[in-house]
Amino acid sequence: MRIGVLGAGQLGRMLALAGYPLANDFVFYDMSGNPSAGLGEVIIDRNNEFLKDFLSRVDRVTYEFEHLPVEVAQIIAREKPVYPSPRALQVCQNREAEKTLFGSLGIPTPEWRIAENAEQLRKAASDLGCPVVAKSNTEGYDGKGQAVLRSPEDAAEAWQSINHDKLIVEKFVDFQREVSIIAVRGEDGELAFYPMAENVHHDGILRYSIAPAPGLRPEVRDDAERYIRMLLNELDYVGVLALELFETADGLVANEMAPRVHNSGHWTMEGAVTSQFENHIRAVTGMPLGDTSARGVSCMVNIIGSHGEIRDILRLPYTHLHLYNKLERSGRKLGHINVLADSYEELVWRVKNCACFLPGAPELDCSLTRG
Ligand code: AMP
Repeated sequence: MRIGVLGAGQLGRMLALAGYPLANDFVFYDMSGNPSAGLGEVIIDRNNEFLKDFLSRVDRVTYEFEHLPVEVAQIIAREKPVYPSPRALQVCQNREAEKTLFGSLGIPTPEWRIAENAEQLRKAASDLGCPVVAKSNTEGYDGKGQAVLRSPEDAAEAWQSINHDKLIVEKFVDFQREVSIIAVRGEDGELAFYPMAENVHHDGILRYSIAPAPGLRPEVRDDAERYIRMLLNELDYVGVLALELFETADGLVANEMAPRVHNSGHWTMEGAVTSQFENHIRAVTGMPLGDTSARGVSCMVNIIGSHGEIRDILRLPYTHLHLYNKLERSGRKLGHINVLADSYEELVWRVKNCACFLPGAPELDCSLTRG
C-alpha cells in the first residue's frame, strides 16, 4: 500500500523503516520546509500547492506530527482515508479540547482554567492556588510555551514570556513519577496495549523511558488501560495513541495525549514483540495488530544536542542505536539508544555505562535509582 505521511521528521522515518518490510511505500508531505526523514519520497509544500499531487500518489494518509492545520486533514479526508481522523487531531492539538474530553469521560486531570490575558492568568493562579503551570493552548511541545507561576504576581511576566493569545492554566501536580501508556486500535476496532513506561524529563525534554514501568501496581495499569480505551473508542481512533500521565499517591492524573507514535514508545523497537511503528502501520493499512508484549526490560535513552561517542556506544553489546541523520543543535533530538536487560538491576547498570558516552546526559534519576 502507498502510505502518505503528514510531516517528515524522525517519527516518519521510523514508521517507514517499519512499514517497508510489509510491502508499503511512503510519500512524506512536509509543510515546514525542513524535512529530515531522509527516505521515501518527500513533497515539500509550504503553501498547500501540491496537495492534489501528494494525494494522487497515496492510498491512505497518516501523521507523524500533530501541529498542522485541521483544515488540511479535513480536505484530505474527503479524498482518502486519514488515520487517525481529523477529529482526533483537532482534540489532541488543543489542550482545552483535550482536557474537556478527559473530563467528559471521567478521566482525572489537574484542575484547570483558560486565560486570554495577563489579568485572567493572575486570577486563574489565585483561584487555583499556586504553584500553577501555564501553557499555550495550542502548538506547545517539549515543555516549550510554558511557565510555572509560584505566585499570582508572576502573571504579567509569565504572560509575556509565553507570548500566546490563549493559555491553559493547570494546578501543579505533586506527582511521584511520570508514566505513559501507548495503545493501538485497528480499523475493525481491535485493541492492543503496550506495557506502560516510566518517563524521566529534563528541562521539559524526555531523556529516559523505562518499560515496563518498574513496580507499577496492577490497579494503576488497569486505570490507564481503561482511560486510553475510552479515548480510542470515543474518537473512533485508528492507529497508535499515546497518553501521558502523572502517577500520584491518589492514582493517575492525565496530562496530555499525542495522536501518533510517541517518543516514550521508542523502546518497543527492540523491547517489544511488535514495535509501535509496525503496529501503527498495521492499523492504518487495515491489518491485524501484532503482539505488544515486552521482551525483558528496556530503557530508551534519548540523544539530545550532540551525538556523543558513537563508536563507544556501538561497542556495548546490549545497545541498539537509532540515529535520525540530523545535524547537531542544542536541545534537538538526534537519535536514541535502546538498552535491553533481563533485570532492572542490570538495566540501570547498563544505562549508566551507556550514558557516560553522551556528553550532557543527566544522571538516570528514576524510581529504580531512588530505591
Ligand atoms: P507537557 O508539555 O504538558 O507534556 O508538559 C511538559 C512537562 O512539564 C511534563 O512532562 C511535566 O514534567 C511538567 N508538567 C506539565 N504540566 C504539569 C502540571 N500540571 N503539574 C506538574 N508538572 C507539570
